[in-house]
Amino acid sequence: MTELRGVGIGLGVAQGPVARMAEPLPAPSDAPSTLSPDEEKARVKDAVTAVARELEQRGTQAGGAAQEVLEAQAMMAEDPSLEDEVGTRIARGLTGEFAVFDAFASFREQLTALGGYLGERAADLDDVAQRVIARLRGVPAPGVPDPGHPFVLVAKDLAPADTALLDLDKVLALVTTEGGPTSHTAILAREKSIVAVVGAVDAKSLREGEMVIVDAAAGVVTTEPTTEELDRAKNRAEDRASASSAPITDGALSDGTPIPLLANLGKPEAAADAVALGAEGVGLFRTEFLFLSSAQAPTVEQQREAYTKLLSAFPGKKVVVRVLDAGADKPLAFLNDAHEENPALGLRGIRALRASEDILREQLTALAEADAATDADLWVMAPMVATVEESVYFTDIAKDYGIKTAGVMVEVPSSALLADRILAYSDFASIGTNDLTQYTLAADRLLGSVAAFQDPWHPAVLRLIREVGDAGRVHGKPVGICGEAAADPLLAVVLVGLGATSLSMAPTALADVRATLLQHSIDDARVIAEAALAADGAASARSAAQAAATR
Ligand code: PEP
Ligand code: MG
Repeated sequence: MTELRGVGIGLGVAQGPVARMAEPLPAPSDAPSTLSPDEEKARVKDAVTAVARELEQRGTQAGGAAQEVLEAQAMMAEDPSLEDEVGTRIARGLTGEFAVFDAFASFREQLTALGGYLGERAADLDDVAQRVIARLRGVPAPGVPDPGHPFVLVAKDLAPADTALLDLDKVLALVTTEGGPTSHTAILAREKSIVAVVGAVDAKSLREGEMVIVDAAAGVVTTEPTTEELDRAKNRAEDRASASSAPITDGALSDGTPIPLLANLGKPEAAADAVALGAEGVGLFRTEFLFLSSAQAPTVEQQREAYTKLLSAFPGKKVVVRVLDAGADKPLAFLNDAHEENPALGLRGIRALRASEDILREQLTALAEADAATDADLWVMAPMVATVEESVYFTDIAKDYGIKTAGVMVEVPSSALLADRILAYSDFASIGTNDLTQYTLAADRLLGSVAAFQDPWHPAVLRLIREVGDAGRVHGKPVGICGEAAADPLLAVVLVGLGATSLSMAPTALADVRATLLQHSIDDARVIAEAALAADGAASARSAAQAAATR
């Protein structure tokens, strides 16, 4: 068995035989044309028009977001500046095929250099060029294979024209070797709920017909899977199917132990969708959105308006707001102005707020005012707390402003290890597993080369979480989880077994976690957690938990 890593889109899992996308056409030669420039231009024009009409027709058939994408591609094909570029090359005596190949390639380079969204559109341009060249040569355009049975489609990066017309009964999953989370493959996979792992560089080695498991939740493609692995993947896929159609109930274990399932939100506007998906409140409201796009801090009034909007969406429900977490992956010009060699270890989170205390005071003022104007149960917490002294500082200042429930995020190993002292004073703890993992494993969470270390299943991370869970039990204080770990259904069970009393996650993950919790009692959860804790590493902790959960 080999695991190929990429970026998973969604939480699904699927299995099936690989079918590879046809390779692109060989590059045309730059030998001189035997036709006149006018004849070449006319051929190209006919081919481009035919391709543009075909793309539009596919768009009409597909509808929705795909239609917009395909129509944009058709426009790209007929772009007058591209036509000029092709014309210049033909005037130099080159063939229509080569002129199209070369002109589109240079346009592609320009888009790639721009990076970001436009860079990812470069793949669309390649697709249009391939279609035009295929038409000029009178051969079929490279496209989705049809092996006559359901398959896992493996491609470099899918073009919109291909994804739009995918036969969902045949395509079990998508795997691409290129493309990021904002590529078309990813966007359309999300829209159509196709299991997908994108940017899996090593998927180049996959052979036609070989059996694979595509696990989007883990961002992994497993080759040569064992029968057990295939069975497990099948069970997970079945559980997911029944989870998404199961009635929305409050989060609970099979013995009835309540585990409130909350939402991680970044904007008040996202509240309605979270409520529709069954969020019982908010476990982490990231306030950075209000600050990120501005050159200075928003006013108390602007903040009060945003917080009031958020709290109004959850009458009678708990809403945990985190005060500004500036620095490292969320730099803010007006707070983090000094250059730092290691910003993740620098003046971030509560440290930055203390250095600019007026911003913290204004935020607490706005929160207290919004609390007074609404019926939600507001809790406020500080990010990146590393010492008992910081937790006392924040709890005191929050209470001074009338915040009734003030707590801290446990994201630094020091505060996990001293959770018993921290919880003696603060009202609650919420574990941010993203940062806690980064700091425990000393691996920058934004750095691809050390991404394998960013795995919250690591037993060192789990032991720290257990410290916090134990401290919560001793002091009778709530311990929530608000990092990505809570969205992994099996890990969610482990976290509960370690003492977490609520779980907060992206709302789309709620159904899977709800369904999995219902399969285990609190005693089961503790046994499963013990199995994970006893492992040496992240992968073995996951397998040990899986084995304990199916026993
Ligand atoms: C975390 O670190 O786990 C967390 C929830 O905070 P953020 O991802 O915003 O840093
Ligand atoms: Mg964090």
